Amino acid sequence: MPELPEVEVVRQGLDSHVVGRRIAAVTVLHPRAVRRHGAGAADFADRAAGRTLAAARRRGKYLWLELADDTAAPVSEGDDAVLAHLGMSGQMLVVERDADAQVLLVGAARFDDDGPELRFVDQRTFGGLSVHPLAPAAGGGLLPEPVAHIARDPMDPAFSLDDAVAGIRRRRTGIKRALLDQTVVSGIGNIYADEALWRARLHWARPTETLTRAQGRAVLTAAAEVMDAALAQGGTSFDALYVNVNGASGYFDRSLDVYGRADQACHRCGTPIRRDPFMNRSSFSCPRCQPRPRGAHV
Ligand SMILES: [Zn+2]
Repeated sequence: MPELPEVEVVRQGLDSHVVGRRIAAVTVLHPRAVRRHGAGAADFADRAAGRTLAAARRRGKYLWLELADDTAAPVSEGDDAVLAHLGMSGQMLVVERDADAQVLLVGAARFDDDGPELRFVDQRTFGGLSVHPLAPAAGGGLLPEPVAHIARDPMDPAFSLDDAVAGIRRRRTGIKRALLDQTVVSGIGNIYADEALWRARLHWARPTETLTRAQGRAVLTAAAEVMDAALAQGGTSFDALYVNVNGASGYFDRSLDVYGRADQACHRCGTPIRRDPFMNRSSFSCPRCQPRPRGAHV
């Protein structure tokens, strides 16, 4: 799954290249790509065609494009948005409209201005697109209905560190499970959870009820820092006319301290990094900097 910085790179690319443009026509080449749009491919295409992409928005790892009839007026409750599910392999490409057809192309939008078109490509079609009305979110703003329960992420200007720490301490689970719970704090995936826990010197199974407020603040601040750093690298990696979530991901791997570094020396103390099985994936941590706690939630 793409992590938050990768999704933000895609959002910025969409903001630069397609926001403000009016969709002339939408072609759905693979019905699986719109399977989450209950009313079907023809309805999906109808609802997007003729509308202007008013904004590219993100909450956590969820990404959507607001659709407006008139860009002079801000979108309001009940207006539509195209929600993008990037899945494991979904890519948004902005390419000249006569560019070679991709073998795996699953859908495309053409614009009134005859400029580059927006293509959605997905090798494994786990991802897809769907149109949903915008609904008011707790704490303000408008979100597509399927995203309405998703909490703010640590990079959101309106994110409340104290509220998020309180939410985590109420969970009564292991700290890493709480960090991955998108209803408590969104946008933190497996990679950045491990990185943030290493920076805060906390073991992944630390019971949240024993976490101090200072430790809670430290791990969330660390998560924001590592994602900011990744974004600073990845944000410069995409080219004009090319928005590609997977192509950008390689730029994020270089500066990781623990994730994927099993048996390599801890960058702080030199102890070999350990890998533990975790929810069908792995957790990477330093046995010395992040000792296993008593009463661990495994
Ligand atoms: Zn260490």
